[in-house]
Amino acid sequence: MNASTGTRVGHDAVAAKGWLGASKWLLLRRLTQFGILALFLAGPLAGVWIVKGNLAYSYTLDILPLTDPYVALQSLLTGHLPETLGLVGIAIILGLYLLVGGRAYCSWVCPVNVVTDTAGWLRRRLGIKGSAHIARETRYWILAMTLLGSAVTGVVLWELINPVSMLHRGLIFGLGAAWMIVLAVFLFDLFVMSRGWCGHLCPVGAFYGLIGRFSPLRVSAAKRAACNDCMDCFEVCPEPQVIRPALKAAARAAPPAASASPARARVDDRLQLPEPAAPASQRVRIWTRISILTWLALFALEFVYGF
Ligand code: SF4
Repeated sequence: MNASTGTRVGHDAVAAKGWLGASKWLLLRRLTQFGILALFLAGPLAGVWIVKGNLAYSYTLDILPLTDPYVALQSLLTGHLPETLGLVGIAIILGLYLLVGGRAYCSWVCPVNVVTDTAGWLRRRLGIKGSAHIARETRYWILAMTLLGSAVTGVVLWELINPVSMLHRGLIFGLGAAWMIVLAVFLFDLFVMSRGWCGHLCPVGAFYGLIGRFSPLRVSAAKRAACNDCMDCFEVCPEPQVIRPALKAAARAAPPAASASPARARVDDRLQLPEPAAPASQRVRIWTRISILTWLALFALEFVYGF
């Protein structure tokens, strides 16, 4: 709910710009995500081989190799050096996301983004309150563990359970039991933690986020003076941490207006403070749900790989 007008989040934007205008970036993102998927599907389904492979490694029109650098890094740590085309593909992807920002992968390419966005949307529509507290840094720890684990075990570890690869490969070659992992991510975001998977756990997003730190492209708040501090952006953005630096930079550029109203003070607070932790009883409920989902995920792994 919009904190300043009491209307549903996004309602003001729709009223001002119309649904199409207010949704244009989301529509463009979905168009790109499904367009990329369609290119991968065209070969196996219709025999039109524009793109061969999957998100880990693809070869477009027999000219353009693209390699996921995170998968390649895990593979490298297992002792396997990519072939020349693979190395070229890594350089292209690294160069691209260094330029446009690593999380562009999440917003414009990753198919799981559709799943987590749907869970976030449903969560808001159902009015589900309460959220687990897992530090954002957790995803970096998971990233480090997958790299270390790959080096120790000689297996590209994250690819065993990576929902991104499983969903993408599943949609191209048949979903099989991979849907259980994707369902677990959906349920986690819906019932356990708002924006939990992408914002706090996924090492793929963490990896691309690290690449994005060196990108010259930045989110900015060019019309900060017109902002009514409704906080809708924090409600709907899957990566609210990108909002903080943008608003802070704009506030530094125009300090007199800042902190002038209680609403602005709330925003200033939000810019400073980490996310609040859930109360103890809520945490118990949340961890119960996490345990159930973990067992579901393990069951899925057992089913798929026969551990
Ligand atoms: S964080 Fe992970 S699952 Fe989420 S959109 Fe990015 S790569 Fe996909």
